[in-house]
Amino acid sequence: MHYKCNNCGGSMVYSPAEDVLYCPHCEGRNCGVLVSQKDMDVCPVCGAPVEAGDFGSAMQCGNCGTYLILENRVEDSYRPQKIIPFKITKEQAVESIRKEFGGRPFIPRPFTDHKALMGIEGVYVPYWLHDYNSVERFTGTGQRVRMWTHGDMQFRETSYFEVIREIGVDFDNVPADASDRMDDDLMDMIEPYNYDQMTDFSPEFMAGFNGEIYNRPSQEYVIRSRTKADKAIRKITDDTIHGYAVVTPTSQNIDARKVKEQYVLLPVYKYTYRFGGKNYDIFVNGQTGKIAGEAPTSVGLAAKYTIATFGLGFLFLMFAGSIAAML
Ligand SMILES: [Zn+2]
Ligand SMILES: [Zn+2]
Repeated sequence: MHYKCNNCGGSMVYSPAEDVLYCPHCEGRNCGVLVSQKDMDVCPVCGAPVEAGDFGSAMQCGNCGTYLILENRVEDSYRPQKIIPFKITKEQAVESIRKEFGGRPFIPRPFTDHKALMGIEGVYVPYWLHDYNSVERFTGTGQRVRMWTHGDMQFRETSYFEVIREIGVDFDNVPADASDRMDDDLMDMIEPYNYDQMTDFSPEFMAGFNGEIYNRPSQEYVIRSRTKADKAIRKITDDTIHGYAVVTPTSQNIDARKVKEQYVLLPVYKYTYRFGGKNYDIFVNGQTGKIAGEAPTSVGLAAKYTIATFGLGFLFLMFAGSIAAML
């Protein structure tokens, strides 16, 4: 399917700035008509083949530029329950990458060139959100030490306490991205998302963006979300134990019951820059603008810098050497 402008026939896109369907050709707003098409092997406008790969659900036709959404990949078991629409525009994402990396030494200048940055991809990344009812049971021994002097004598008193905690926490929306091409660590780093802005799924939010379906079913991502929930409850429990010099755990376990799962799409900008035979990815949270990623370092520049420093040191030694010889 795609959204065709009623005024000019152009391909409409979702505007994060205005929260409307927008026609970039005639600047019309909310003037789109949904054109449905079941066979999505070819572009419905120009007939060119569509390369969706195993997981693509939305993309731009490489031939005519129409923004396509593959119906069979947003329906039935692939229909997301919720979506956080893009709030950050492509221009804002580009600007924040330039701000973050523009002034740093040794980063090759083409990395922050406008033309390269405009190749940034806005993609709705598939996520599983898991809700957990977690309980941590902790027992341990805490020590408190008191020291004082009386006359010539020094006293040291160690008191032992049994520390018992049973902490229950209900976690909502613990995220695990279900796209294997997205680096897990970087995806974790652009969190958190504000789930209050999550809304019912509608395909028009995807117009103008790329999209992916979940690569594997929910249960294969449980370990990832569960690890996050366990880490969080451990911190909550630890924060309730204070006032001891030392705490030695004797038993510690976490029960977590997964009580809900949702398939949702979350907005991400992905900038990939190829340098020295390696891809460098920068991710921008499409809702909050938070950035994570690795920028290339110009080896040529670094090498030049090292050679220059070495050269100076070498000259200095020669100079010192000739002074010594003269004396
Ligand atoms: Zn138009
Ligand atoms: Zn086309």
